[in-house]
Amino acid sequence: MTIVQPPARDVRLAASVDRSIRLISTGSSAGSTCAPELAKGPWEFDRGPAGYGPGASMGDVIPTGSPRQGALPDEYRRASDAELHDRIRAAKATLGDRVVVLGHFYQRDEVVEHADFVGDSFQLANAALTKPDAEAIVFCGVHFMAETADLLSKPEQAVILPNLAAGCSMADMADESSVEECWEQLEEVYGDLATPGADGRVPVIPVTYMNSSAALKGFVGRNGGIVCTSSNARTVLEWAFERGQRVLFFPDQHLGRNTAKAMGVPLEQMPMWNPRKALGGNSAEELTHARVILWHGFCSVHRRFTVDQIEQARREHPGVQVIVHPECPMPVVDAADAAGSTDFIVKAIAAAPAGSTFAIGTEINLVQRLAAEHPEHTIFCLDPVVCPCSTMYRIHPGYLAWVLEELVAGRVVNRITVPDTVADPARLALERMLAAKPPAATPAAVPAGA
Ligand code: SF4
Repeated sequence: MTIVQPPARDVRLAASVDRSIRLISTGSSAGSTCAPELAKGPWEFDRGPAGYGPGASMGDVIPTGSPRQGALPDEYRRASDAELHDRIRAAKATLGDRVVVLGHFYQRDEVVEHADFVGDSFQLANAALTKPDAEAIVFCGVHFMAETADLLSKPEQAVILPNLAAGCSMADMADESSVEECWEQLEEVYGDLATPGADGRVPVIPVTYMNSSAALKGFVGRNGGIVCTSSNARTVLEWAFERGQRVLFFPDQHLGRNTAKAMGVPLEQMPMWNPRKALGGNSAEELTHARVILWHGFCSVHRRFTVDQIEQARREHPGVQVIVHPECPMPVVDAADAAGSTDFIVKAIAAAPAGSTFAIGTEINLVQRLAAEHPEHTIFCLDPVVCPCSTMYRIHPGYLAWVLEELVAGRVVNRITVPDTVADPARLALERMLAAKPPAATPAAVPAGA
């Protein structure tokens, strides 16, 4: 596991997507953003109708009942960047070891600079375990990540999400009741889902991506299933195929498809499950022949990447290495030189000889940070339009300053708690993932073009 320590401040300022957005929106810099509202404070969206705000997932439909953030006190909304920076530092200094701040790779740099650890969601949840005496874990990421940290931390530790509206549109595409309904319909097609067939395997094993609610992790835990990350999806599918004739994979169709295709599963045996249609829009025969049933979910950030962008990068930068995240659509993964998790991308760049050129297909905050940290390389985002993950973007420094100063005052706000009835089976699903061993010679990343 690699946990990256926050980079130096001058590197962070150079990497700032926020700064890029302001320069573009004031006309001081060339380039374009995906939404003119990006330069506004996230509280302006938290006060409006439920939605994801500006950024790559703003067009997605937010489910009713998603957490809403109460009004951020005025003093934080009015404070300058420098004042917020100083207040966060002062609050952290006062709290000392009583608090640990976690920053996701996709988080804005003005927040990441205050993080004790930077990494992907599962790395960060594990990083928090190294601070068992911290009373509070402030997770600068999105809702499902804070839930995972709560699952792994001690009961007396409070996990805090600075802005409750920081959800994940992909995670929200698979809700528990839709998955339960899907499970019931699959039982009608396959018969008792808990009874192994003649080959000793049950009809279907549910697999949920880490980017899902704790309720879904609990669902797979209760039903003999398992959690996966983008680093271990292949290992987890191997585990599932040993125990089941097929897999129900949610919520990200692209990670499921890219991984199963690399393992040799034919595309025609990977039907899509549309939760708004009977049998997910499939015939019983199609489901009988299925090896992997893919939930109709996707990441709005990663689906922005296209094969045209890859071709343009190759035309303009001969010798460029294109690395994309496996949440990208299959044609993009197939066209890239390599595909892998954020950890894979970070390590590939660190291991490259000086003078390398990389076009990266993942969230812009990580790409700009990598470019600033590695001046010996040329690194750019495949997507020329600046379009951060809109829900990550809701963690503005104003919210971080607020939750930390509340802790200083002895108050815990925005605590994320997973109820025991969900937490116990969810932990079981995570334990199965940790125990799953990769078959010998399994590559860490999804091989491109496979
Ligand atoms: S980048 Fe995609 S999967 Fe990650 S939090 Fe944003 S919407 Fe969710």
